[in-house]
Amino acid sequence: MFVRVAVPGPFLTPLDYKVSYTGKQIVPVVGGRVSIYLRGRKLVGVVMATSQTSEVNEHKIQPIQSVIDVKPIFSELDLELLKWAAYYYHEPIGNVVHTAMPKRLREGLPATMEQVTNWQATDLAREQKDTIRSNAVLQNLLMEFLLKHSHPVTEAALTARVSGWRPVMKRFVEKGWALPVKKPCLHERATENGTIPSDQKHPLNEQQQKAVDAVMAAEGFEAFLLQGVTGSGKTETYLGMIEAVLAKGQQALVLVPEIGLTPQTVARFEAYLQQPVAVMHSALSDKERHCAWYMMQSGQVKVLLGTRSAVFTPFQNLGLCILDEEHDLSFKQQDNFRYSARDCLVRRAQLAKVPVVLGSATPSLETLHNAFSRRYRYLQLTQRAGGASMPSISLLDIRGDHQLEQQAGISTKLKDLMQQHLQADGQVLLFLNRRGFAPVQICHDCGWQAVCQSCDANMTYHHQYRELKCHHCGHSQQAPQNCPACGSANLMHQGQGTEKLEAMVNHWFPDYPALRVDRDTTKTRSQIERVTAQARSGEAKILIGTQMLAKGHHFPQVTLVAMIGLDQGLFSCDFRAAERMAQLIVQVAGRAGRADKSGEVVIQTCQPQHPLLNTLVDQGYEAFARQALTERQLAMLPPDSFQIMLRAESNDPQSSWTFLQDIQQALSATVYDYDSETELAAFGPVAAPMLRKQGRYRYQLLLQARQRSALHQWLGNLESHIYAHSLVNLVRWSIDVDPQDMS
Ligand code: ADP
Ligand code: ZN
Ligand code: ZN
Repeated sequence: MFVRVAVPGPFLTPLDYKVSYTGKQIVPVVGGRVSIYLRGRKLVGVVMATSQTSEVNEHKIQPIQSVIDVKPIFSELDLELLKWAAYYYHEPIGNVVHTAMPKRLREGLPATMEQVTNWQATDLAREQKDTIRSNAVLQNLLMEFLLKHSHPVTEAALTARVSGWRPVMKRFVEKGWALPVKKPCLHERATENGTIPSDQKHPLNEQQQKAVDAVMAAEGFEAFLLQGVTGSGKTETYLGMIEAVLAKGQQALVLVPEIGLTPQTVARFEAYLQQPVAVMHSALSDKERHCAWYMMQSGQVKVLLGTRSAVFTPFQNLGLCILDEEHDLSFKQQDNFRYSARDCLVRRAQLAKVPVVLGSATPSLETLHNAFSRRYRYLQLTQRAGGASMPSISLLDIRGDHQLEQQAGISTKLKDLMQQHLQADGQVLLFLNRRGFAPVQICHDCGWQAVCQSCDANMTYHHQYRELKCHHCGHSQQAPQNCPACGSANLMHQGQGTEKLEAMVNHWFPDYPALRVDRDTTKTRSQIERVTAQARSGEAKILIGTQMLAKGHHFPQVTLVAMIGLDQGLFSCDFRAAERMAQLIVQVAGRAGRADKSGEVVIQTCQPQHPLLNTLVDQGYEAFARQALTERQLAMLPPDSFQIMLRAESNDPQSSWTFLQDIQQALSATVYDYDSETELAAFGPVAAPMLRKQGRYRYQLLLQARQRSALHQWLGNLESHIYAHSLVNLVRWSIDVDPQDMS
């Protein structure tokens, strides 16, 4: 017998291995793992099919080494999804299958799961805790955290609160201060005190109930767009649907953006549903991830709340798929296997014949297009739950404001507005999507500029660390005091970042505490939680933040939201820039306002006449989307066409270009095979918008067509040719299907 095994590596199809019976050997199963040798390396692969014959010359075929799973870990349906993803994203099947497995399974460990370790402080720790020196920050932090809990805490909780806890814990164990406690995996979180706290459920309002009913009435596969304004209670609506699915004895898969998966979200789900929920996100340990996987695959837990990669987790009895914030970019993997979790989820629901719900206040134009054309059912929540009103948005014309540069980009009008709101005891949120102090450091005397050695980009000056940082490759160096070219001390910081805003605001309003929320102030999950809690409490009167502030959190005390420096979005070379800007505006605006105090949102702009911006402000997101979709249609851009981006980069400027040029020529040579309706086109190769990044030269070749299937066939026919190219191992290259980021 032969088995076709999906093995990680640049192989377009599964590889054939033979199974030789010795009588007592376990038989490999489709969907189960086997261990094999490939070029002398022992690897774990998944059996995709078995066969009595092979097209490969028999004495070239190696035997499998051993059978790891006696029962399949992937069902036929799971394998269907993985095969589809491999086909659709032009990714080797072995890489796809590996993405679908937690690390421990990739390493060949048993698919079952025994126990996980939790940690608890001992009585001795309580007695001796004061012997920890006050400057031993990590020790104090860890001890405090352990003592705060009467029950053993999970490793996930520790990782979230005390980064770098493991070596410290080891010392605590040596001192007899802490003990590992083995528990059946998963259930510890749900039963922190033995029971799940019962949350009060809000009775669903009419629109919410209608959405739940529509989804529950679906027979088999149906896709829904749930467009609900910020604060309309989408989560409550999802929970209503999940409850109904659980009542039928089925499981539910819920995907959220990384930043939306907070302990509070998990607690809210568990309290509402009164049962444990499995969680998958990037901060889990290998064991915890494996445990969540196992609980879903074995059907012991009914709900999985996860980020992007959770989309491939096998279920016993899937009944419903939900994806929240469907417009969020984090659902698209931007390296290696560049899949969209949203699109994979829709495909998964289709294969499993169950409904899928995509939710957002600001759906992507692709999804809206599907709703407008009735391919998806369009459900809407138009009102905020609990009676709060929507904030009003207006444009603040800053043309002719000569103070702008001296005032860190804050117009005089905005300064006055801030003053009014602060005096009326409101909270003010300033949004600027650029961290650091200033994006440009320049010598006033000779014109020298701080540029990155490895990228075609300026270095951003960070005052907090007195450093110059490249936001593209991560390189950082000490900021010079004097010009490295002419020695002048006249160095200027042009443009603004959040640090500069913070300094300006502190100078203007010393009596109102300001809080900066960006990647520099929120490096760990615990920092994120601390800072957002501070922001929510209203303790900080002025919040300054990047798009970290735009997601998920609601700040009920905020009465004024001001958005600064958005104009660049109107003139970007990426055709999705306007869409992204509109989403950002609506999402940031949605942070403000509560029942008794409605919010005011202003957008500083030098383009007060811009048509799309005006449509958005005057008529809202849907009207904006319709207008933007018309523009896309005229330009034959997605969703009116489909794209695949081929990228290549190399240390020398030539090879990556040559590689793409050869592909382009091979593609052009076959284009006559297609009829004119498909409008297949290849643009490029051209230099990427930033030609040199991290020392490598980057080129791109864009393929576009009216018909998705023709586009995939076109590239698919040439794939083996690409893999056989003489430069294939010398350049870094990738295929990006439905690219979201054109850079
Ligand atoms: P969204 O995700 O749509 O922005 P949330 O799901 O976070 O909104 O809900 C916003 C707030 O409204 C939450 O505090 C939630 O508990 C509350 N809420 C949701 N549905 C109802 C309802 N039917 N009645 C009263 N309050 C509700
Ligand atoms: Zn100089
Ligand atoms: Zn750089």
